[in-house]
Amino acid sequence: MKTRRRPYSEQRPTDLGGGVWSVPVPIPGNPLGYTLVYAIESPGGPVLVDAGWNHPDAWLALRDGLDSAGIGVREVRGVVVTHFHPDHAGLAGQVREESGAWIAMHEADAALVRLMNELQDREHRSFQADMLRRAGADASEVEEVTAQRPRPPAPPDRELHDGDLVDLPGRELRVVWTPGHTPGHVCLHLRDADRLFTGDHVLPGITPHVGVYPYDRDDVDPLGDFMASLEKVAELGELETLPAHEWTFPGSADRAMEIHAHHEEKLLALASLLAREHEPLTIWEVAGRMTWNRPWAELSPTMRGMAAGEAAAHLRALEVRGVVRRTAGPDRVRFALRP
Ligand SMILES: [Zn+2]
Repeated sequence: MKTRRRPYSEQRPTDLGGGVWSVPVPIPGNPLGYTLVYAIESPGGPVLVDAGWNHPDAWLALRDGLDSAGIGVREVRGVVVTHFHPDHAGLAGQVREESGAWIAMHEADAALVRLMNELQDREHRSFQADMLRRAGADASEVEEVTAQRPRPPAPPDRELHDGDLVDLPGRELRVVWTPGHTPGHVCLHLRDADRLFTGDHVLPGITPHVGVYPYDRDDVDPLGDFMASLEKVAELGELETLPAHEWTFPGSADRAMEIHAHHEEKLLALASLLAREHEPLTIWEVAGRMTWNRPWAELSPTMRGMAAGEAAAHLRALEVRGVVRRTAGPDRVRFALRP
């Protein structure tokens, strides 16, 4: 275990050289502590990579942090969002309101954001409740997980595709599509400085959540995508890594393959877990038998919901590899090892 994680209170805006700044923006009430927002200077004005959580304290931290870098929020040219999650995209809308900046994200996440903005709270709740029941959650767990819903992020003005150059005059910032953590997650390769902004895809001390939603979908393979995206990043060679959480570090390829190996191990452990069972298991039962950072009994229903998503992603990856099969009953889907 790495022990270099420090609280938000010890974070400061930092000049990383070459016209790149990191600005820590707090995520109130979240153990992750903060998002690292990056500002890249250019003759056409600065571009931000991510914007932080939508909260008044976070907004002040972003504004003051940019200020200490000599950047007024009003000068911001654009915000590239690595993925649609609220700790990354949350404040992009407010930056746009202040400065007229464009917001850009990958087309796959842009489609999700549009959907989230169209969906009514009631529809969102019944969709989630349905998914939880089919996975084997009990009534009280369904109740608690469906209680809160974060505000959807602002829809982007521009959609990005793999290999695109971001609108950053005088510099070369290329989009590297890295689906897995979300379908439209991107890393950004600053080729004029051998730096890689990795969002949540490659983090130094933790691994990002990779889940399937709804849990029993059989037309996607997010974990398979994520592992292929790790290989894709490794193929870029060792670059200075600027992640969205924790701290910056040198070897992107090394760390990407370390995370790859972690999931291979987890897949192996899951296959041998299933080999010991005589009956097919629900996703909830599988999640309850897997190893998490805390015992299953101590996880809150919301944490269990995330763990079930992660379990489902590993089950689906094993299914794609031909190791696991599913049996869809009238109300619940179950999984077993292929004979
Ligand atoms: Zn995320």
